[in-house]
Amino acid sequence: MKSKLQVMKFGGTSVGDAACIARAAQIVAQAARENAVVAVVSAMSSVTNRLVDAAKHAAGGDGRAGVALIAALRQQHEDALATLVRAENARAEVAGRIEKTLAEGQRLFDGTALLRELTPRALDNISSLGERLCAPIFASAVSELGVKSVPVDATELILTDSYHGGAEPLMEPTRKRCEALLRPMLKDETVPVATGFIGATREGALTTLGRGGSDYSATILGAVLDADEVIIWTDVDGVLTADPRLVPDARIIPEISYREAAELAYFGAKVLHPKTLRAVLPAGIPVWIRNSFAPERPGTKISQEGRSIGGGVKALTAIRDVALISIGGPGIVGVPDVVGRTFSTTAELRANVLLISQSSSQNDICFIVAAADAQRTVEALRREFAQDLSHEVVDHITLDPKIAVVAVVGENMRGTRGVAGRTFAAMGRDNVNIIAIAQGSSETNISFVVEDGAMKQALLSAHREFGLGDSASNREQRAEFQDVREVT
Ligand code: ASP
Ligand code: MG
Repeated sequence: MKSKLQVMKFGGTSVGDAACIARAAQIVAQAARENAVVAVVSAMSSVTNRLVDAAKHAAGGDGRAGVALIAALRQQHEDALATLVRAENARAEVAGRIEKTLAEGQRLFDGTALLRELTPRALDNISSLGERLCAPIFASAVSELGVKSVPVDATELILTDSYHGGAEPLMEPTRKRCEALLRPMLKDETVPVATGFIGATREGALTTLGRGGSDYSATILGAVLDADEVIIWTDVDGVLTADPRLVPDARIIPEISYREAAELAYFGAKVLHPKTLRAVLPAGIPVWIRNSFAPERPGTKISQEGRSIGGGVKALTAIRDVALISIGGPGIVGVPDVVGRTFSTTAELRANVLLISQSSSQNDICFIVAAADAQRTVEALRREFAQDLSHEVVDHITLDPKIAVVAVVGENMRGTRGVAGRTFAAMGRDNVNIIAIAQGSSETNISFVVEDGAMKQALLSAHREFGLGDSASNREQRAEFQDVREVT
């Protein structure tokens, strides 16, 4: 058996059409000549979104919902199959699987339309179809290259709780399943191609890990199989110092820590599903982000240690679709339970709170929630504090949707003096007005709230201040990075 084990995940754009799947299959086949490889695939790009949309139409009672989509998916997947797989038998077998999955899909749409109800469980089943269509095609594309490969439904591998739409894996039973099912394949030098994104409860009900969850699938499998590394193949070169659409001189970071990557994911940098690193953290398995369209580039390595660079600031990120809620008034000074009641309310709503800030005079608490949660959070708070509002203990509960949160992230900011000072001095110099500030005691990020229109400037200013786009340090890091790649 090959000694090194790699888990490789290919995202939607990396399996977007026949040419992309061919490229991805090449990457797998090449790696499999040296290492044991488990592949994990997403649905072809946009398929999951289209499935979810059609499911919602069906729930509205549209009896024809899904018909056009199923036909389009048949066309799309059969086209890819025809281009990728020459062997008649293999092609017929995969075509048969595609038909079966599509027929199941149509029944799910019909059932949903009939009941005019879309339960989380039915939505999970419908949204899983894309991965289940893609994996068999991918496996046969790898086989075409002379490397044995079989598709595996992750419902057989990843056991989860029953929280549909965002299930959590049960690691021990998952480990047993994977040992029983995948290990013999690896011994036989066969590449299993698992469907990303999905799992199943102990009772066998299909679940999903949440949108974008294939990354998480890959690290779950990597962890239970004790892989040497997990590689997330995507359509960007790695983790960047900032969003290049906003900051033109943003560049690739060669190596970052789990914590920094998690911080970036949490604040909206769309490189990783936020839960991805949880699975590999205990065992310290490195995760690479690499570009399947440019596999010669080294990508970003996410590891336990990361590597310190310069002043400790590694990257910037920002989120826009959030809102600022503030609750206060001079009357709340000394009312001990305002904070408790505020956050019990958000917890009850399962609203995602991203940042909290309270002034020491205590007359204002403000926090940030996802825009989607904003309105109902404010309404719930107004109910909770109805009495206090009428007695003017609380004089305002307001919502400001026109804001953005900017986060300055870097593990080595801890103990580095002056990062906050430099950040805010830069904002002052460039006329960026700051609405609220928070720094976690972990000191891995400083985040602050600005007006929506000032977000880009805030990013540009901080990027310049910390020399993140600086080409000299860029060259230096690239040189250092080469060394690292050689020893790993
Ligand atoms: N196909 C799923 C989604 O679009 C999972 C993934 O791509 O990671 O959310
Ligand atoms: Mg994705």
